[in-house]
Amino acid sequence: MKHCTKLTLGKVAATLLCVFGVDARLAAERPFPEFASAVSRPALLPMPRKVEWKGGWCPKGASVTKTVDKSIPTHGYRLEISPKGVAIASSDDAGAFYAEKTLQQFGDAPYPCCAIEDSPKSRWRGVLVDEGRHFFGKGEVKRLLDVMADYKYNVFHWHLTEDQGWRLAIDKWPRLAEVGSVRRSSPPPGAEKGFDNERYGPYFYTKDEVREIVAYARERHIEVVPEIDFPGHVLSVLAAYPELSCRGDVAETGTQWGVFEDVLCAGNDKTMQFLKDVMDEVCDMFPAKVVHLGGDEAPRTRWNECPKCQKRMKELGFRDANELQKWMFREVQRHVAAKGRKAMGWEVKHGGADLGVVAEFGETALPKDAIVQSWRTVKSGVDLVTNGYEVVMSPCMETYYTLPIGLGALDPFPYRLWTKKAKPLDLRRSYFYSPFKNIPREFEHRVLGGEVCAWTESTHNRAELEWKMFPRALAHAEALWSDPQPRDFECFAKRAAAHRLRLLSLGINCSPLALDR
Ligand SMILES: [Zn+2]
Repeated sequence: MKHCTKLTLGKVAATLLCVFGVDARLAAERPFPEFASAVSRPALLPMPRKVEWKGGWCPKGASVTKTVDKSIPTHGYRLEISPKGVAIASSDDAGAFYAEKTLQQFGDAPYPCCAIEDSPKSRWRGVLVDEGRHFFGKGEVKRLLDVMADYKYNVFHWHLTEDQGWRLAIDKWPRLAEVGSVRRSSPPPGAEKGFDNERYGPYFYTKDEVREIVAYARERHIEVVPEIDFPGHVLSVLAAYPELSCRGDVAETGTQWGVFEDVLCAGNDKTMQFLKDVMDEVCDMFPAKVVHLGGDEAPRTRWNECPKCQKRMKELGFRDANELQKWMFREVQRHVAAKGRKAMGWEVKHGGADLGVVAEFGETALPKDAIVQSWRTVKSGVDLVTNGYEVVMSPCMETYYTLPIGLGALDPFPYRLWTKKAKPLDLRRSYFYSPFKNIPREFEHRVLGGEVCAWTESTHNRAELEWKMFPRALAHAEALWSDPQPRDFECFAKRAAAHRLRLLSLGINCSPLALDR
């Protein structure tokens, strides 16, 4: 029966080739490589590093064998499709998983015969979803994890705490979820300021839900890296526990977008205990080797006037408040390191709150044994790398899904005001992103990879989130996994068109490719 399928295809091909004047008898004996390539090469995405089309077919029901070959790079694989069957070789489970994901893109057998050698350029292929500003819930997170796995992303950076919402149940500090997961109002869609006067929340994840999602991700070879952002972006914490602020007077979870002067009081021992308690429970829930400690956009205003913070600085012999943030980070870093975790933080300009793009890109308040997520510019990331940091590259103008997709007035969804003035991040620009851009070869090993960031101030629901993520996340997936040199956008766009249809068929609200404008 299996053999018949092949013969039938052969006969069809022979007939067609005959019509076009090719010797039908010869064609029937041969595997028709041209014919096969013309009609059935799958739209592989991300494109594997090396694909050799052999001609011929692997029939339906052929066996799939898996072997271990330690010479294959980490997470890489070899996939050989021949008339006899499918052979997968990898040095680890993730490699075998990615081989299966590639095979899935061939659709149903019969498969065209080929030999594929593949391995990722970036070790860190991340997607950040901000559920602090808007909450999407377990079902949507799982849908995104499914799609991430299909396109070989391997880090889900879960941004769970924000001024406008704390989304994680913490037993020792229960008011975080009770109070911090609710806000009384938000800016109207697309506005920076103002009030819609609609209560938002309570929205948060229970520990069981977190464990379920972490396990779901793990089955798909995705590590869930939680982010607990401090000392800034904590109005939700301070609303729940005002005594952790410098003035003790923060009354409510954030209702506006932006950067706020109220931060965690660094001079209060209770603050440090709070952070350690939270980290204990976070490390218990999340087995990931990395914990993201945020650290961005923390103004020094309160610390500079707070007697407790001033006292702490004096005791520790600090010259300025910047050292206070470094100390706080270091304390928590040490705490998670004792649990075998590596700390990660946002790139922060040394010298204060990182508001506005300024000089001194290479300096940061983070210690050198932390992973830095670079977000300002390509240049700031390069400077961090050349200054000795291990870096994940998320330059905002190339990886932030807050930027418009390039549809202009035709785009039905709102974006933040500043992003409307910026150059759109269309599919082409997304595709030309590379975490290794301008990195001297001798420092490439310090680039762990890159991450796309779905910040959600102006992203209110599942439909908007997916619209802004896809198909850009396909372009970024190929940039991170294959980092093709040179980029062939037209080739990518053809494959992306096929995958867009696939995503739509899965119910993902994928936006248009926007190629014909
Ligand atoms: Zn203080």
